[in-house]
Amino acid sequence: MNHNRITVLGSFVADLAFRVDRLPARGETILGPSFVLGPGGKGSNQAVAAARSGGHVSFITKLGRDPFGDIARKLYADEGIDTGHVYEATVPTGAAAILIDAASGDNAIIVVPGACFTITTDEVDAARELIAGSSVLMAQLELPLEIVEHGLALARSLGVATILNPAPAAALPEHLYQLADYITPNESEAEALTGVAVVTLADAERAADVFLARGVKNAIITLGAQGAFVKNATMSAHVVALDAGAVVETTGAGDAFNGGLAVALTEGLPLEAAVRFGCATAAISVTRPGTAPSMPHRAEIDCLLA
Ligand code: ATP
Repeated sequence: MNHNRITVLGSFVADLAFRVDRLPARGETILGPSFVLGPGGKGSNQAVAAARSGGHVSFITKLGRDPFGDIARKLYADEGIDTGHVYEATVPTGAAAILIDAASGDNAIIVVPGACFTITTDEVDAARELIAGSSVLMAQLELPLEIVEHGLALARSLGVATILNPAPAAALPEHLYQLADYITPNESEAEALTGVAVVTLADAERAADVFLARGVKNAIITLGAQGAFVKNATMSAHVVALDAGAVVETTGAGDAFNGGLAVALTEGLPLEAAVRFGCATAAISVTRPGTAPSMPHRAEIDCLLA
């Protein structure tokens, strides 16, 4: 058993990103200048971020027996991510069609979660020993809510810390909050979940208070270029964003943050320092294109924080 292990329970989808001069109208076919196929899914991205930033990472998900599933398998082999509980589905691996208007930056996205959405509670239970030997279980909201809840409850029953990244935002039952040692929404997710529009730091604190009142132990609200706000029963802090160079693409910043945060907590850093480590991980990721490929390695994070 490795008590520094981070187990991520989450999604993999293949991202198919089409860059277009304008989004097509209904019934219209247009030619676009470029297309990129790469690994995506918040769970998968966070697993990669955690592995590169120094964690021993296991990923629990489900993939199809198809070329998109093979992209994921190769990624985890390359990144040293344990796949002992990456299950095989009879349905195809999930995929996202991402249309990006190159001029305006507007996008239109279709996500078919596919294989990962067919994971069962029995398959989560089969990872019981793995979770018991982990110091953190991290989940997002791209799997069925029943699965997320089951995973968090199992981790809690085993005394394993839980991180819930509530993305994409979805209505959550009250008791789910009590299963989260850490919750990590961005501004819009915090607003969707608490009803508090998060613009200022005072707003972030109000939203954090709502999470704490619902039973979350530590509320961390990511604030884009403003960094993150963190609060629990005994402390609160604004951690400013780090500057790692010119910002190229912020997609995946939240995933980078969560991966880094999980590693720092696993290594026993105090909460504020762990949030700063997450901010550093994300700050480097936004200076590079792509999501999983933009995740920094540990030496780069240590260098930024030095
Ligand atoms: P995304 O949906 O784009 O993946 P997000 O909306 O989930 O990201 P954000 O709150 O935008 O998450 O960003 C997460 C973290 O990334 C922030 O807490 C901050 O530390 C870092 N970050 C984001 N944008 C910047 C930036 N422009 N410069 C430096 N750090 C940034």
